[in-house]
Amino acid sequence: MPNLSLLDAVKLIQRGIRNYITNRPLVVSFEVTLSCNCNCRHCNLGGIIKDEKQLKPDDYARLSRLLNPPVVQISGGEPLLRKDIVDVVKAIKQSKGVPYLIFCTNGTLLNEDAYLQLHEAGVTSFQYRLISLMNDMMNSDDDQVYINAWSERFRS
Ligand code: SF4
Repeated sequence: MPNLSLLDAVKLIQRGIRNYITNRPLVVSFEVTLSCNCNCRHCNLGGIIKDEKQLKPDDYARLSRLLNPPVVQISGGEPLLRKDIVDVVKAIKQSKGVPYLIFCTNGTLLNEDAYLQLHEAGVTSFQYRLISLMNDMMNSDDDQVYINAWSERFRS
């Protein structure tokens, strides 16, 4: 169930119509890291990047204010690799109150605590890249590791 208040729903529609008419972006996607703990066959972003230069939460707030879209998508790489990811979400959410915020993750690092913090910070909905996990399963020397991890995830 999306975390969408009535106020955000109204804002989403208003901002969507305004941006459509004024030829401004309807959806902005921020790749907050190019680093990823998976290594999917179809993707050019697999693998951990050490010492990656990253924008700060305030930078995302500034960009969100400037572009002012109704929908923002946070993706990567794997966004949960960033230690300040909750601050990034808060900064984007609070900049002119982005009404709909989608968080894309491969799900391998998402536990209950992280989910609740992100939800509280303003994430409207989570998008899981199951196809990525399936690719990882196919690449893995030990497929059972992924299958077990995901069975566990869906049980909890
Ligand atoms: S999980 Fe996503 S970002 Fe990571 S390697 Fe796979 S497709 Fe790429």
